[in-house]
Amino acid sequence: MQTKLSLALQKSGRLSDGCIALFQSAGIKIRRSNNQLLVQDEDFGIDFIFARDDDIPGLVENGVCDLGIIGESLLQEYNIDAAKVMVKLGFAKCRLSLAHIRGTKYSSIDDLNDKSIATSHPKILSKFLNENNIKSKVVTMHGSVELAPQIGIADVICDLVSSGATLKENGLMEFMVIASSEAVLISRHGDLPDQKQILLDRLLLRIKGVLQARQSRCIMMHIDRSRLSELREVLPGSESPTILELQGMPQKVAVHVVSLEEVFWDTIEKLKEIGASSILVLPIEKMIF
Ligand code: AMP
Repeated sequence: MQTKLSLALQKSGRLSDGCIALFQSAGIKIRRSNNQLLVQDEDFGIDFIFARDDDIPGLVENGVCDLGIIGESLLQEYNIDAAKVMVKLGFAKCRLSLAHIRGTKYSSIDDLNDKSIATSHPKILSKFLNENNIKSKVVTMHGSVELAPQIGIADVICDLVSSGATLKENGLMEFMVIASSEAVLISRHGDLPDQKQILLDRLLLRIKGVLQARQSRCIMMHIDRSRLSELREVLPGSESPTILELQGMPQKVAVHVVSLEEVFWDTIEKLKEIGASSILVLPIEKMIF
């Protein structure tokens, strides 16, 4: 019988699509029909268990699953010592923020004293309040936290914010970020059996390759030889560019460089300022060091 890894992931919600896209980019296609909760991948060797996100920390902690993918904020909320973060996955990025009804005034954390705060992250919030010596009443809700001030359950909310649209739609204003979060791959502490460890090492190599490629770009341009030193200052990660002759243009060269950071428009503008032309910025599909 083939040794396989078991991995728990969110069956529906903010992390689901990102997980499926990540595995697809890593060459592991999750063939799932609509409500299927166990998908057995025989090619790479992973059993995917689709679960509620708040069940995933327990499944990993109890050893039912070798691995899990959850939001960092959930891991902090469950505070499980038995699990460790193997790799931050760079999607489902959000922040845990305090927000109040538009029109009410909260300018510092001291304004939270004697107020009630609704949240689905009571442990993280209580820790934050204790550390800052604030005495507030924490009201735990399991969803629709944004509703709390409108129906008089609490004065303030503490919830995950991504685009900020939900806060806006519910007449709320973000006034303080208390934690940030993104999807993370977790596993239990301790060694896996050898065969599983080999699979995990292969999986991590692929995932890290995908993540590195996602944020890197290949940049190509033409530039005067005399301005190559300025290029290093403008472009992150351009210490060892490939430099090629351009036929019939002895004073110019073609430069190819891989940037390990995102390339923003202001970088392109700076490249133009030092005389670069024919600038191409290309995505990279895979990147293995
Ligand atoms: P948004 O309107 O994009 O700011 O999203 C806010 C709503 O989505 C809130 O109800 C949050 O609880 C939820 N939310 C946002 N980002 C995440 C995330 N990464 N994981 C889980 N829930 C999230």
